This record gives sequence, C-alpha cells and structure tokens, in this order.
Amino acid sequence: MDDAIDRAAALVRSARRAVAFTGAGISTESGIPDFRSPGGVWDRYDPEEFSFPRYVASADARKKMWRWGLELYPALVAAVPNAGHRALAELERVGRLRCVITQNIDELHQRAGSREVIELHGTAMRVGCLSCDREFERDAVHARIEAGDTDPHCDCGGILKPKTISFGQPMPQAEMARAYREASDCDLLLAVGSSLVVWPAADVVPTAVHHGAKLILINLEPTPFDALADVVVRGKAGAALAAIAAAVRA
Ligand code: NAD
Repeated sequence: MDDAIDRAAALVRSARRAVAFTGAGISTESGIPDFRSPGGVWDRYDPEEFSFPRYVASADARKKMWRWGLELYPALVAAVPNAGHRALAELERVGRLRCVITQNIDELHQRAGSREVIELHGTAMRVGCLSCDREFERDAVHARIEAGDTDPHCDCGGILKPKTISFGQPMPQAEMARAYREASDCDLLLAVGSSLVVWPAADVVPTAVHHGAKLILINLEPTPFDALADVVVRGKAGAALAAIAAAVRA
C-alpha cells in the first residue's frame, strides 16, 4: 500500500487539472452505510421498490420510502466528515484539485470544506415538490409525517420527494454536463469509494481515461475499471487520502 500511496501522490503532484469522483465508500468511515458492502442498504431494502416510476405512481411506495428515510436520515444528520473528505477539501484549498464529482447524497464533502462539488445524485438533506420545484427542510416534512400526514404533498398539490435521484429518474442535466466537461478536461482522476457499477455516473471514469487522464482508484474491493488504472490503492479511503495529501504537502 505504501508504494501505491507514493505513486498516487506523485501523480497528484504532477497533475495540473486533477478531479475526484467519489461514491458511498468514502462516507462509510463517517458511519453511513454504502449500498453494496455486506450489511449495506441493499441487504435490507429492495431498490426496485424505490424506483422513480413507482414512487410517482404509488402512495404505498412513497409511504415506504419515507419510512426508510425516517430510519436512515438521523444517521446522515449525525455524520461528520472523515479524513477522506477532509483530505480532498485540503487538496482543493491548496490548488491541487479542481472539483469533486460525487454520487453521494450526504453533503459531507461540502461540510468538510470542499467548494466545487458536483452532486450527480442530488442530496438527501432537502425535499422538493415534483410539480413546482418548491423546496422544503427535510426535518419539517418528517415532522408532518410523524404527525400522521404519511404521504405529504405540496400546497400546489404536487408530490414531495427527497431531492435525491432515484432509479429511473432523469439525471440532473446541468450537473451531468459539468461532470462530463470536467472528466473530459482533467489530466488526473481520483476515483474513491465507488463500486463503479451505477450508470451513467460511472461513465465519468472511462470518459476521463479516454480523454487522456491518468487514473487513481481507491477502493476496498475490485471495480470493473481496475485494469484502466495507473495506480490502484486497495484500502480505506480515509487513511489513503490522508496519506496522499500529507505526501503532497511534504
Ligand atoms: P456502492 O455501495 O455501490 O460501492 C461502495 C464501494 O466502496 C464498494 O465497492 C466498497 O468496497 C467500497 N468501500 C466501502 N467502504 C470503503 C472505505 N472505507 N474505503 C474505500 N472503499 C470503501 O456505492 P456507489 O458506487 O457510490 O453507488 C451507490 C449509489 O448509492 C450512489 O449512487 C449513491 O448515490 C448512493 N449512496 C450514497 C450514500 C451516501 O451519500 N453516503 C450512501 C449509500 C448509497
């Protein structure tokens, strides 16, 4: 691992336009379960039940998703950024990282101090109306649910939904366009804590490589793109990113 960290740090040092791409694995050390590790969210819930078409069509599906949210949301609120989030924020602050493209919905990059964060899958920290785009504090919507309004709607009559992107929901156009621009233009991509199987987000990795970027992959498990990587760090994101940031600082 030390050799991989040294090689990764050398790539960060020589990069002019480095970009990070992160997934749920960077936040497991903050206590937020990922999707695909054993004991993760998919062991306990069927994602099909939370697809966008079902959410729009079925009051039962909406009630179930809000119940799931009531269970999961307190862990999101209680979570604090870890060494991995902090290292990426530091790399941006010292001019070594242009932005973080994230699949995460927990806002921990922003809370760690990252400024240029592109959220491909939205945020779980707010709620929006699917008809008029009005936004609500999630705490306020949860209070309504706990008071008995189990399928909350907007004043305009529209369905309320956490501002996350569910399966089958259109991707946010502006964020996708910006992510592809950054991926096409970067000379180094650090992909961290993602199984790289969720599309179209995972396309950021081959897009960057196709346009000539070097690739550092930091993940506990193999990914479909390991063979494209210049450096694979098989370890925890927090320790690996902290070590890379320290080596770049030295
Ligand atoms: P994923 O669960 O598919 O993959 C996570 C990967 O991270 C796994 O390969 C796992 O081995 C690795 N990992 C776990 N802990 C790690 C650690 N400490 N250090 C390094 N690697 C670690 O996650 P994904 O690829 O992001 O795709 C899942 C989707 O789920 C995303 O679209 C995301 O929106 C959503 N999600 C987000 C959160 C969050 O915001 N924190 C949590 C769960 C799911």
